[in-house]
Order: sequence, then structure tokens, then C-alpha cells
Amino acid sequence: MKTISSLFLLLILETAAWGWGRHDLLTTSVVEDVAWLKEWDTIQVTSFQKFLPKAFAKDYKEPDFLRQYQLNPTTKIILKHNEKEGEKVSASWILIHYTDEPDWGLDISPDQKFMGGTKGPTSQAFRHLYWKKWSVKGPWRTFHFPPREMGQALKRAQIFYDLAQTAFEVKEPYWAFRFLAWSLHYIQDLGQPFHSSQLLTPKFIAWDSVFSFEALIKRTTQIISNYHFIYEDYVVFRIEEETKDKLKKYFISALKGDTFINSSSAFLIARHSADDSNRLSYAIGEACYTFFGDQFLNPSIDVPNSPKGKFPLAPYEDSSRLSQKEKTLFLKNTAKSLQKTALYTRSLLELSKEEFLQKK
Ligand SMILES: [Zn+2]
Ligand SMILES: [Zn+2]
Repeated sequence: MKTISSLFLLLILETAAWGWGRHDLLTTSVVEDVAWLKEWDTIQVTSFQKFLPKAFAKDYKEPDFLRQYQLNPTTKIILKHNEKEGEKVSASWILIHYTDEPDWGLDISPDQKFMGGTKGPTSQAFRHLYWKKWSVKGPWRTFHFPPREMGQALKRAQIFYDLAQTAFEVKEPYWAFRFLAWSLHYIQDLGQPFHSSQLLTPKFIAWDSVFSFEALIKRTTQIISNYHFIYEDYVVFRIEEETKDKLKKYFISALKGDTFINSSSAFLIARHSADDSNRLSYAIGEACYTFFGDQFLNPSIDVPNSPKGKFPLAPYEDSSRLSQKEKTLFLKNTAKSLQKTALYTRSLLELSKEEFLQKK
């Protein structure tokens, strides 16, 4: 039983990676429509060292912070986009430029060496996903082992939301928006169906390897990773093309809008995000399988460990292998996930406005 659990844990860490490839692209489209955010257009940039003693204790230092928040002890929390102390930036700018930050090595924890390696794009997975416990209503989309709920993304969303509030209350709005961007990161990750479901569809099971349990896990892991990565790469590719007006704005328009839900915590918003995307995950898994074809079942194909660009993304749009109906189904389901991701992004911003982002 113990080996089964550890093999499945390995599977987790191998299958989950970056949520949506580029959160900055999502956040850019979403914040454009949040009108009140524009009032926060002159936020003074301050250093992390200035923020720490105000929010914690007088002699509280960066290593204390990294320890308390269980972040990678070698990480540096600095100004990473050439903004200078004392300079003014807008809240939208901070959110756009830092929603990707949790993917920049913050979450590579030393504990992970017991669970599948500390290096590479897949090692931070645990914090960036949430799998609800197995349910008979969605036997494939809730399939994972052990079948209890797993992943820390809900908690991470709440932790950094709370920190954003603290930063705001000690009059460090730059850091408030930066931590809000971190909180948004986890909520957005959960909107990606490969982060709210492990298996998605039985089509991802390596049926040719059922004779050996170990081979079955290893190959199924590889197949899920292949589709996971090609899917995220494709979504980024398509949004970039849409931004350049080269493709119909299918995904970008899914991100636009001004609706939001009223919720009472970042944790609950994250949970809604995970639940909605889990409900879509079977359809997304099936649509991915059709759209990208069965080539990614091939044992010689390893998308996460291949150089960028090895698997060209352009052919799928024009592929004659696919009917228009199949293409549309894939685009429609992905657009639905993006729409929900945007909805919960706006919902978190609204909650923070309601709870602490008040101008005097
Ligand atoms: Zn992530
Ligand atoms: Zn991912």
C-alpha cells in the first residue's frame, strides 16, 4: 500500500506544472474591465525590507519571512521588473507583472525532495493544484490516489490574500497588490482543468501497460504531462496570436467582462474555481485528446522535457484531420474555463475591495 501511495504521489508531481503558462496574459485582459482598479494608478514602489518590519516585528528579516510562509529559502523577494523604489506604478501594472511570480521558484520547497525531486518545472506542483476527493458522480475527473482531497492551492490563495490585507493596513499598497497577485495566481491555476483533476479522461490511461503496475503509472503520468503541457502551450500561443489580431479573439473575449461572485474568502473563491474547472475537466480531457491527436500517447514523446517549439502549435487550427465541429468543441470548452478563471479573478479583486482596499 505504501509503494502504491508513493507512486501516485510521484504521479502528482510529474503531472502538474505551470497553471496557464502565462498568467500575465490572462491578468492583462481581466483587469482592463475592472473599472475601479484604475483609481489605484499611483502606487509608490517600496522595498520588501521596508515592508517587513511594518507588517511583522522590528527585526524581522527576509529569511524569517521565507520560513514563516514556507517559501524556497534561496528565493529573493526583490523588485523584478525594473521598477525603482519611490517610483509610481499602477495597481494593474503590479497585478499583471506579478501574477506569475509563484511560478518563479517561490514554491520549490525543500520537503519536495522526498516526493519526486526539487528541480524542474514539475516539482512545485503540490501547491498549485487542488483535487477534490473521489466522487462516484465524476469517477474519471475525480480519480486520483489516495482518493482524499489533495493539493494546497486553496490554502495558498488564502494565505497571500491575508498577507495582502496586512500589507494594505500597514500602508504598503505596493506589497498589498503584489501579494494579491500571488493569491490570484493560485485561483487562476485552479481554473486550468489539469490542475483540478488528475486524470481528466480514461483516454489518458496507458492501457498498453496494464500488465505492470509500475509501467502503468509511469506511462500514464507521461501521457497526462504531455497533454497538460501541450494544452498550456497552445492556450498561450492562441492568446498571443489573438493579441496580434492573427486569430479570432475567441479566448481573449472569454476573459473579458464585468461579472463576479460575492464570496466571503479567497479560500472559497479558490474552491469555486477548482470545482468549476473540475466539472469541465472530463470535456477538456476528451477535447484535448481529439484536438491534439493520439500522437502524445506515444512513449517516445515527452513534451515537458523537450525544448520549446519542438511541437509546433500552429497546425491544429488548420488541421484537416479535425472537423470544424471538433475544433469548435475544443475552443468552446477552453473558452469556458478561461471565462471562469476570469470570473474568479474579478471576484477576488472585488472581495479585496470590499474588505480592505479603501481609499481614505
Ligand atoms: Zn502555478
Ligand atoms: Zn499546469
